[in-house]
Amino acid sequence: MAQAHFTTDDFHSWKPLKTVDELCEKIAKYDSQADLNLIRRAYTFSEKHHEGQFRRSGEPYISHPLSVSGILADLRLDIETIVTGLLHDTVEDTTATLDDIKREFGETIATLVDGVTKINQMKFRNSVEKQGENIRKMIVAMGKDVRVVLVKLADRLHNMRTLHHMPYDKQSRIALETLEIYCPLAGRMGINTLKIELEDLCFRYYRPDVYYILVQQIKKSEAETNRYIEEVRKQIGEALGKTNLKHEVQGRSKHLWSIYKKMTSRDLDYEQVYDVLAFRVIVSSIPECYEALGYIHSIWKPVPGRFKDFIAMPKANNYQSLHTTVMGPGGERIEIQIRTQEMHLIAERGIAAHWKYKEKGNASSNKTEAQAQWLRELVQWHQNVRNPEEFLDTVKTDLFESEIYVFTPNGDVREFPEGATPLDFAYSIHSDLGNSCMGARVNGKMVPLKYRMQNGDTIEIVTSKTQSPSKDWLKFAVTSKAKSKIRQFVKEEQRKRSLILGKELVEKEFRKFGAAAAKHFQGDVFNQFLKDFGLHSMEEMFIRVGYGKLEPRNLVEKLLPNFNQQTEKTETQSFMDKVVKAAQTKIRKSKSLVSVDGMDDVLVHFAKCCSPIPGDSIVGFISRGRGVTLHRSDCKKAFELDQERKVEVQWTSKKAELGQERNVKLKVLSQDITGLLKMMSEAFAVHGINIESAQVRTTKDKKAICVFQISVRDAKQLSEAILGLQKIRGILGVERVMS
Ligand code: MN
Repeated sequence: MAQAHFTTDDFHSWKPLKTVDELCEKIAKYDSQADLNLIRRAYTFSEKHHEGQFRRSGEPYISHPLSVSGILADLRLDIETIVTGLLHDTVEDTTATLDDIKREFGETIATLVDGVTKINQMKFRNSVEKQGENIRKMIVAMGKDVRVVLVKLADRLHNMRTLHHMPYDKQSRIALETLEIYCPLAGRMGINTLKIELEDLCFRYYRPDVYYILVQQIKKSEAETNRYIEEVRKQIGEALGKTNLKHEVQGRSKHLWSIYKKMTSRDLDYEQVYDVLAFRVIVSSIPECYEALGYIHSIWKPVPGRFKDFIAMPKANNYQSLHTTVMGPGGERIEIQIRTQEMHLIAERGIAAHWKYKEKGNASSNKTEAQAQWLRELVQWHQNVRNPEEFLDTVKTDLFESEIYVFTPNGDVREFPEGATPLDFAYSIHSDLGNSCMGARVNGKMVPLKYRMQNGDTIEIVTSKTQSPSKDWLKFAVTSKAKSKIRQFVKEEQRKRSLILGKELVEKEFRKFGAAAAKHFQGDVFNQFLKDFGLHSMEEMFIRVGYGKLEPRNLVEKLLPNFNQQTEKTETQSFMDKVVKAAQTKIRKSKSLVSVDGMDDVLVHFAKCCSPIPGDSIVGFISRGRGVTLHRSDCKKAFELDQERKVEVQWTSKKAELGQERNVKLKVLSQDITGLLKMMSEAFAVHGINIESAQVRTTKDKKAICVFQISVRDAKQLSEAILGLQKIRGILGVERVMS
């Protein structure tokens, strides 16, 4: 059967569960021994407690936990997890207590519900600090029982499916949060079906402009695509049919988010992305996978460098398959994955597929155990990371699937994220090996530390006793383990240096007054001094002086009995102070739109490349002497800037006042119909938007491309105008242009 699943506007269709009977039916299909009475009891309990509560859609609240359990049942999870799905919001949102749940449903379920409640209580609120902290908690929760996170993922999926009921300004924030945290989590746990649906839902709300253009483009070529899929299936079927290989062929278009990522990473238009089709051949055994690969390569030429053997080298999330890209019918590039039925199950459901729902109380297999181990390590590495932003930064890298497989000199396989260097390799083995790493021999040849490891490389680390980590290494290291070890080392070094420097400075200052420092660092006066400054030891005092946080003169003043006040003053002014000062002299009279690190009187510039408007997610970069430059957080240019200069910025108000409009560019693709331009400019006018300039050109295939320069107050106004444009007949797509 063809698997192409094109629907109307949305790419993924789903049917909400209406009754608990439907849920029970679903469960009975894969677990005939399931205790369905327990399910019904949990449903009744939840329904009773949520009585009188409603979703934004107007439905009774119970529809949400029921749907969440439905998703968990689709993943074929055990009864305890599904019951947790039904109860997951009761403790947080109703009068039910954890004790009630323990009494009614037992210890395990109470613990699971408690875990989900705790994750729910972490409110993300866009602050990097909270986000980092929350992921940390989530991972800790996961280390205890992975099922907590599975319920949370199902909860988020249902909320994403019903996101259109949320107010506009929350939609893109929730979508972005899901994209950054939940999608990678689902991916790391191998739950592909869930990850794909989440990603496309996020795409739709996070970049509606591009999303709808892509949907239209795909729909346009739908019939042709389906014919092509049929042709490929037929030819594979014929080739394998001559053998005795039992097989099944599936063909589909890749999901929208992956197509979009391909377009942006290679800077292509949709028409230029050729390998949007993916095919799957499912056979019965591992040898048959390789056999099938041979037959396929005999009918179509493989594209060099695109063959990957994830059977011999499974991904960290246990994914296995053979991947190849071939020049298919008509010379089109198509991707083919070959796998067994069992591999297919794991590819689709990941960690959820390992769940042995029949063995009560013993739900973990070796493979889930390995994954739990990975999580525990992740938590350990991050225990020393105090700064939440640092934590978030490193943990995000770990959550994304690894792409590079390299060999140790012993022939063991190690897995790394793309871009990883010998430093990552060295630290993955031992921190001492990392700390003394000088370079590496890759396939026998010396390479520098910044070398980016390639698939299949054999890596041998070269060390030196005189080598030690430096801050620069952070530029080369990619994995969180390497980064946190380097930071730890650098901080420790800095501390040592500050101690020595501080001691020197203090002694020098005392000498100026003809006193020996050491004499004064004891006794009651000194102890009182430490106390007053919140210091725990003499060492800490020196370190503080070394860091420039404490003036040696302070010590002299407080500790020398007959100190004469002198008026010479040295000012150490932090860079941020200077920025603020410069800003204060230049700042306009009107209230600032943006606050930097909590201060709203800092001079800001809007980057020309992405010209952010109020409501966009933004980041700020300190530019010397010119205050802070604002970029949209997805701006390519912003990624190229020195990340050390990044500061947290926030809109002080979602709405700009009149007179604070900002220019943005919109590209509108439409049919070449007379009168459309007039309708478009009316759509702008209806939303109170001025058109500064407009350019129109027509294409050979009777399409028109208009580029409007408009001035808008905020993202909400812009988005409403975009929605207005999209409703006009003949308009094919609207896109906000970033130059
Ligand atoms: Mn919920």
